[in-house]
Parts: sequence; structure tokens; C-alpha cells
Amino acid sequence: MNKPVVSIAKCKNYEPDEVAKAVKASLAHLEGISSFVKPGDKVFVKINLLMASKPDEAVTTHPSVINAVVKILEEAGCKVIVGDSPGGPATRGRLERAYRRSGIIGALEGTNAELYRGFDGIRMPCPDGKLIKSFEVLDIVPQVDKIITLPKLKTHMLTGFTGATKICYGFVPGMVKATYHSTLPDPEDFSDMLLDLTELINPTLTIMDGVVGMEGKGPSGGNPKHVGAIIASTDNAALDMTAARLVNLEPKDLTILRTAMKRKLVSGNQNDIEVVGDTLDNFSQISFEPAIRKKKRGIRIPRPIRRFLVKRYMSQPVPLKARCNGCGDCMRACPRQCIQIIDKLAVMDYDKCIRCFCCHELCPERAIDIE
Ligand code: SF4
Ligand code: SF4
Repeated sequence: MNKPVVSIAKCKNYEPDEVAKAVKASLAHLEGISSFVKPGDKVFVKINLLMASKPDEAVTTHPSVINAVVKILEEAGCKVIVGDSPGGPATRGRLERAYRRSGIIGALEGTNAELYRGFDGIRMPCPDGKLIKSFEVLDIVPQVDKIITLPKLKTHMLTGFTGATKICYGFVPGMVKATYHSTLPDPEDFSDMLLDLTELINPTLTIMDGVVGMEGKGPSGGNPKHVGAIIASTDNAALDMTAARLVNLEPKDLTILRTAMKRKLVSGNQNDIEVVGDTLDNFSQISFEPAIRKKKRGIRIPRPIRRFLVKRYMSQPVPLKARCNGCGDCMRACPRQCIQIIDKLAVMDYDKCIRCFCCHELCPERAIDIE
């Protein structure tokens, strides 16, 4: 059987010329963009737009990467639409603010690409899903010829890692996301759902922004860290595995990758993946702090038992009084409606809390810690 191929290109910084060169190099190692799209294709470029966050905060896909990919696709004769469905309630105002603050609107200047401003979902059958047999996804999915995703290399409090697989969660519209958080609180169940969804969406190509990633309490509350890589592949699990190794995160400690390994979507052996372009050794000094979420690290509790122990087993979200301004974003995003704002401070009902960490992920003030 052929090995999955992952292409890595060094990229020192976000200067547009540097990024364009690196994206082109990463694609050249995969035989070029013309092996993925043809003139006249309508292509949806799915970015990571978790929330309204500035590019240097390393929460969202950097505008330079988006600009480079859009230009390459337009040169190949494609019609490009760029977008995402951020976390939390879907409103026009929130979406516009996220596109503006993250630099996405600026990234499309000088191109003919459109921004996706839809909210509607369409139900698609997923007969081969292990856990989920149909998904509600953004209505853009069946309207385009190809989908290319641009994830950011980050840690994640719930799934350990967010990359080529986790980015597909943005295809689930707005607060429909809360349904899965609510019904699948166990991280392995949630990861199984993400893997089902990724197989359904089946992106043509994934190009990861690993120039500056995020370590620690990601995907929004961690610390930006320079990695210096653009990573591309058609195999999402292999890409995530390689990206995790690139930053010295142990794949079997990352729930999303451990679940992918159990499903035999990727082996735990990096030698089973063909890395082309720059090698992992070129980045050997980079080491990411993992997203810590177990109270007792090292103890593996079987999934069926863990489902009943979730509250005792997991860390919990803790609002920081000095930072919280009572804006209520966390309250509106909570899938269990177990947050109240009292005297301008978020207050959690821990008996109802399922430890999904959506509040931590979406707080614009980084005012929710995980303890
Ligand atoms: S914790 Fe964050 S999101 Fe929640 S009310 Fe406070 S500042 Fe707003
Ligand atoms: S309080 Fe936070 S972690 Fe708990 S269910 Fe609500 S959003 Fe999830």
C-alpha cells in the first residue's frame, strides 16, 4: 500500500513573499496545484476563524496564508469563496467582526475571492460514519466543486490538538455545534464524531498554517509559538500526526490522534508516512507545551467508565475575576446553559457543566482558566 504523503516547507515569517514561496514549495512537492483543481472549479477555502482575534494572537489562520492560497487558486483559473462558521451564536455582526479583526477582509484585497456570509445548514447523510449517520453542514458544501482547508497548528483543551481534522468542525453551523458538545462530552466520542465529519467533508487538500502555532491552553487561551512551517497533504490524519511530531507532542497523548489510530486512519509510526520537502529533523528544537486537562496525568480510564466520571476526572473552567467583564459570550456559547452572569462575572454551575471548554475557547478576554 502507498504511504500517505505530507509535504513540509520552511516559512520564516508572515511576510507575503515568504509565505507565497513556502505555500508554492509545499504544493510543488505534491505535484502542484493543478493536480488538485482545474480551471473553472468553484473552490471553498475553509479557514480557521474561531473568533474575532488579531492575526498575531495565533488563534485564526493568518491572512498572508489565505492570500497566498487564494492567489494560487485564481492563477489556476478557479472561482474562490473563503469562509468559516465561528464558534458561538451565528449572527451577522459577530461574523463580520471576526472577518475584520482577524484580517481576512484585508487578505482578499486585490483578489476576486468572495467571503462566505451564510449561516444556513443542510443535512447530509453520513452512512459510513462510525458514530454519526448524518450531519447538518454549511449549505456551501454541496455547492462547490472542491474544498481546501487551512487549519492552524494549535493545541486544544478538549481534543489535545486542532489541525486538519478539527478544522472540519467549522462546517457545522453556529450553535448546532453545541448539540455535539452536549451529547458527546467524552473527548474520544467527540473525536470519533470529528473523524466521521472529516470523512464526510473529504477535503481535496489541506494546507496548514504552522508558521506561528499555539501551545498550552489552546485553541485560543494558549501562547503563540514560532514553528516556521507550511504543511500540506491530502491525508488529514497523516498531516496531524506529522504536525504533532514536528512540535514534539506525543500523538498517543492527543485524543484526536489516538482515536484516529484506533480507527486505523493513521499508524503511530512516523515511518509509515512519507514526508517530502523539508524533513522533521530540520525542526527538532521545537517543543510545544501540551494542553493539560487531566487532573491525574498518566492514568488512562476506559471510555465507558470515563463517561460516568467526566466531572471528577476532568479539569474544570474557572472564571478569572480580574479579567472577566461580564460580556456574556461564554453564557451564550455554553451548550448546557450552565453559566450565569452575576455582578459582571461569569459563574458556572459545575453540576451541569460537561467540561467541553467552549467557554474557555470563546472568551475574548481569556478570562476563563482551566484548573
Ligand atoms: S468569562 Fe469571558 S466570555 Fe464570559 S462573561 Fe467573562 S469576559 Fe465574557
Ligand atoms: S460551563 Fe463551559 S465547560 Fe461547562 S458546559 Fe458550559 S461551556 Fe462547557
